[in-house]
Amino acid sequence: MEGPSPFAPAVSVRGEEEYERDLRPRNLDEFLGQDRLLEPLRLMIRAAHERRECLEHLLFSGLPGLGKTSLAFALAQELGAPLKVTSGPALERAKDLVGILSQLEPGSILFIDEIHRLPRIVEEYLYGAMERFQIEFTLDQGVHARLLKLDIQPFTLLGATTREALLTSAFRSRFGHAFRFEPYSPAALQQVLQRSAGLLGLSIENDALASLAAHARGVPRIANRLLRRARDVAQLENELHVDAMVVQRTYGLLGIDANGLERADRRLLECLQASEGKPVGLKSLAVATGEAEDTIEDVLEPWLIRQGYLTRTPQGRVILEAGRAVIYGA
Ligand code: ADP
Repeated sequence: MEGPSPFAPAVSVRGEEEYERDLRPRNLDEFLGQDRLLEPLRLMIRAAHERRECLEHLLFSGLPGLGKTSLAFALAQELGAPLKVTSGPALERAKDLVGILSQLEPGSILFIDEIHRLPRIVEEYLYGAMERFQIEFTLDQGVHARLLKLDIQPFTLLGATTREALLTSAFRSRFGHAFRFEPYSPAALQQVLQRSAGLLGLSIENDALASLAAHARGVPRIANRLLRRARDVAQLENELHVDAMVVQRTYGLLGIDANGLERADRRLLECLQASEGKPVGLKSLAVATGEAEDTIEDVLEPWLIRQGYLTRTPQGRVILEAGRAVIYGA
């Protein structure tokens, strides 16, 4: 039986989105396992509060599912600030941005997801808003051209990106600080899973918890999805209790093997292996595996690279010895 992939992108299934919303941390204390990010953030909040200013604009970068959106929501809650959520691709024209900025209440947080996909022209309008809380635009052309200035309420921009390198340095320099999200340790993921299990009304044994955390690739979104699938399995037996047996059965259903590889990972490694050592470009790999290029780059590859199963070269992806060993051993 094919189960839905726990590694599917967040937007694919509505049910998954709702589920993610329910498990989202509601304040900074519930944002677990990331003290490295929270300490400087709390300091900045205190300093801004003492100066009676808005928090500086912040950039959150890192792989999907590491908690960028969650931290933005938790931060707004912590500050008691109105939150407006949008994304780079949704702000197609300068008009879209002006519409949002002009309606912000004082002290709002504006969260722009996928900020690297903001069109360049819109990005430039954002500069004045970020620096002076003012948008400048030109009306008419030639000798009749007039520069109009629109004041907007002071606000904090939180930009999230999976591709910080695609941002221009001019844009990056306008953020007060860039927070880089790293994969979570298994211990941190255990904390996330324990909290989620509580919210889902599940009891979970320690070895089951440790196993799920070890299979989650450092990503809380994957940890929560594995837990949700384990809950499905437990429910089939009319139980709300997850033990090592339930977890093993869950891996079986999801096609997760003893090395922690899922079907999509094995397909990807098999495609590379089939090229007999020649590097394979991202586009060809996407066609051969049936996965989107973004999914390969942001979701599948990072972990496979960290495990030493494949490497990226300027000519394309190449399977490594350890990668060959896991597909032959599977
Ligand atoms: P991103 O915006 O980086 O793609 P999200 O903020 O959407 O990631 O996180 C995905 C899910 O993982 C959230 O629904 C949340 O339940 C969980 N999560 C992420 N980070 C944490 C954390 N530090 N503590 C608890 N849960 C977390």
